[in-house]
Amino acid sequence: MPFSVKRRPRRLWRVVLPWLVGALPMACGLLIMHWQAERELQSRSEASTRQVVRQIDHILDDISAAAQALLPLAGQPCAAQSLALREQVVRHAFVRSTNLEYRGELYCSSLFGTYREVIDSNDYFQGRLWLMQGNSVTPGHPLLAYRTAADGRGAISTADGDHLIGALHLLDDDTRLILQVGPNWMGQSGEVHTGPRPVPQVAVSELSSLHYPFSILGGYDQGKVGKVMRSEYPALFGLLILLGAMAAVTCYWQLRRASSPRAELQRAIEADEFVPYFQPVVRQNDYGWAGVEVLMRWQHPREGLVSPDLFIPYAEHSGQIVPMTRRLLERTAQTLAPHVESMGSDFHIAINITADHCQDLALLDDCRAFLAAFPANSVRLTLELTERKLISPTELTHTLFAGLHELGVLIALDDFGTGQSSLAYLQQFQVDYLKIDQSFVAMIGGDALSLHILESIIELSSKLGLGIVAEGVETEAQRDYLARHNVDFQQGYLFARPMSADVFIQALQAQCLTSPPGQPMYAGDG
Ligand code: C2E
Ligand code: CA
Ligand code: CA
Repeated sequence: MPFSVKRRPRRLWRVVLPWLVGALPMACGLLIMHWQAERELQSRSEASTRQVVRQIDHILDDISAAAQALLPLAGQPCAAQSLALREQVVRHAFVRSTNLEYRGELYCSSLFGTYREVIDSNDYFQGRLWLMQGNSVTPGHPLLAYRTAADGRGAISTADGDHLIGALHLLDDDTRLILQVGPNWMGQSGEVHTGPRPVPQVAVSELSSLHYPFSILGGYDQGKVGKVMRSEYPALFGLLILLGAMAAVTCYWQLRRASSPRAELQRAIEADEFVPYFQPVVRQNDYGWAGVEVLMRWQHPREGLVSPDLFIPYAEHSGQIVPMTRRLLERTAQTLAPHVESMGSDFHIAINITADHCQDLALLDDCRAFLAAFPANSVRLTLELTERKLISPTELTHTLFAGLHELGVLIALDDFGTGQSSLAYLQQFQVDYLKIDQSFVAMIGGDALSLHILESIIELSSKLGLGIVAEGVETEAQRDYLARHNVDFQQGYLFARPMSADVFIQALQAQCLTSPPGQPMYAGDG
C-alpha cells in the first residue's frame, strides 16, 4: 500500500534526520565560535609577548645604561672605582650588581670590591646577554647579565631574576610565557634551562626584541579555547541550542507533513501518476462493446500499479479527488478522442464521480471540456454516482444536474442495492441507469431468496423506465441469466478486465472489426 510501504527505513530516517538537522546549526555555530576564540587567543598571545618584550627591554635599558656608564672606568684600579660601581647600583632600579672586566677577567665588583674571575665571552649570547641559573652569591636564583666590552675592557651589570619572573607573570595566569636568551630559556617558574623548550599548544606567538638578543615565546595550554568559549560566549551557546532545537522541530514537522497521505497524493497529482484504466461494458444480444467504464489507477514509482480501493478513500476524505477526477477526464479525452471512429455510435464513457464533486458547478465545465474533445454527439458521457454516499439535494445540485442533462450527460447510480436511495431521490437527480452491485450478480446460481432480490431490482428499474447495467459478471451462467432478464448492459471479467490505454485502444480497434459474443477477451489487469 502506497502509504505504508518501506515503513522501517523511512521511520528510522524520520527519527535520525531531525537530530541531524538540529545538530547542524549547533555544529556550524560551535565551529565558528571555536575559530573566533582561536583568533581572539592568537591576538591575546601576540599582545602578551609584545608587552613582555617591552617590559624586559625596559629592564635591559636600565641595566645596560649602568654598564655603559661604567665602561670608561674598566681597566682602572678597583679600589678607586668601587664607589662608582655601587653608585650605579643605587641609581638604577633593576641593577643588582655592577662589575668591571679587564683582559678577560672580572676584577672589580660592586658586591665584593676587588675580585678575580675568568670571563668566557661565549657565555654571553652575541657577547651581550647571559641568562644564568644563579651565581656564587645567590646560587639557584636566576640572573640576567648584560655586558658591554671594547678593546679588552668591559663592564657587566646584572638584573635579578625576580624582575624577569615578574615580567613573565604580568598577564593572566593562563598565558604561558618563556624568555629565551641564546641557548638558555626560563619559564614562569623562574628555573633556567638549556636545550629544547616546551612549546604551548594553542595560539603560539614568538617575538624577538629589536634592541637586545632575546625573544619571548607565548601561548596557551590545550583546552584554553574551550574555556574561552564557555566563559565568554554563554549567550551564544544558548542561542545555538535554541536554533538547533528550532531547526530539529521544523524538520520533524515538515517530515510528518511530507509523509502524510495528503502530501503523498499531492506529490502524485503533480507528477501526473493517476492514469485511466478502461473496462468495456457490453450490450445485450451480441455482447458488442457499447461503452467503457474509466477506472482510476495509481502508477506509483515504487509500488507499481495501485488499486483505487487503496487511495480513493484518502482522496475523498482530503478533497483531492476533485482535481484527480478532473485530470482523469482530461487524460481519458486525450486517449479516446483520436479513436472515436472505432467506437460505434452512442458509445458510453462512464466516469466515477464522488458526492463532493457535485457540490460545485465546475463539474459542468469539466464535462463540457470533456465532450468538446470529441466530435459533436459522437459519445455519451455517463457519470457514475455511488449509492453508498448519497448527495444531499440543494439548489446548487438541482442547477448542476439540470445543466448536466442539458449537456446530454447521463447519470448512473452505481453499486445499486447497497444504499438507501428512494424513488424521490432517483427522480430528483434524474438518474438514467441503475448499476446493479456485483454482490447481487454473484448471487446468481445461489439460493432462491437471493435471486428474488435481484429479480426485484431488475423489475423496479424497468418499471421506473431506467436503463440497467449489471457489473461483476464472471460466469456464462450469470451472463445468460441477466440476458434472459433483459438487462441492457453487462460488465465483468467474463468479457474483459480493466486494461491500460494502449491495450484498450488495440482491443477497441480489433472488436470494431469483429466482436465474438460472450468470449473473454482479455485476462489480467492491463
Ligand atoms: P466500481 O465503480 O464499482 O468499479 C467496479 C469495480 O469492480 C472495479 O474495481 C472493477 O475492476 C471491478 N470489476 C469489474 N468486473 C469485475 C468482475 O467481474 N469481478 C470482480 N470481482 N470485480 C470486477 P476497481 O477498478 O478496483 O475499482 C474499485 C472502486 O474504486 C470502484 O468501484 C469505484 O468505486 C472506485 N473508483 C475507481 N476509479 C475511480 C475514480 O476515478 N473515481 C472515483 N471516485 N472512484 C473510483
Ligand atoms: Ca463504477
Ligand atoms: Ca460498482
